[in-house]
Amino acid sequence: MSVLNELLEYQKVDAELRKVEQEISATPERKKYVQAKKFMKTAAEKLDIQDNRAKELRRTAQELTRRYMEISKSLSEFAGVDEMVDGGGDVTFYKRNAQALADSLRALKGEINKLIAAIESACDEYKKLKEQTIVMQKQYKEYSEKYTEVKNSRAAEVAEITARMKAIEKKIPAEILAKYTAKRNERIFPVLAALKDGRCVCGMDFPIAQQGRLSDGNVIECEHCHRLIYKAEA
Ligand SMILES: [Zn+2]
Repeated sequence: MSVLNELLEYQKVDAELRKVEQEISATPERKKYVQAKKFMKTAAEKLDIQDNRAKELRRTAQELTRRYMEISKSLSEFAGVDEMVDGGGDVTFYKRNAQALADSLRALKGEINKLIAAIESACDEYKKLKEQTIVMQKQYKEYSEKYTEVKNSRAAEVAEITARMKAIEKKIPAEILAKYTAKRNERIFPVLAALKDGRCVCGMDFPIAQQGRLSDGNVIECEHCHRLIYKAEA
């Protein structure tokens, strides 16, 4: 058998393997496993975001405390206001100062309310994330086992198909096999496709000059879909 025919035979057996792989991949066990795995992967990132948010809230709280201390200090200066007014101090001046302090206090109260709301929402989000993480950790553990069971249940079948592939592999030059495997790993399938009416299966046109290179079982890579194109025997 020519190399091309061996390759086509190899691809035929490989299609059986691919079918098993796709069936495994479509199982709810794998889907649940992948979902949990994805979540766990991003959980650290989400925790980092929460961490940064907590740091920011703490900074805001510190800033508000500093402002509170400032107002408090200014208020303490009013302790001796009686004597100062008695001693000829300007009442209007103190009144204005007191008004300014009252305004500052009101503004501070608004900021504190905003901070409380932000802390509450951060707490809610953190709680939700924690609950989700617990659920996903459980799901990951449960479904990584179940997914393994699914794979194990098909292992004999896979081994049988793989053995048949190995037998054919011996008859295919290593570099051609490597090319096939690389494309298969890129999820290109079928890797080999017959030229039909001067076109690749992807629709790409093959000029006559190029078609001429397909004789004697030669293959050409399609520029568009990167499949290996061959000429079917008449
Ligand atoms: Zn193509």
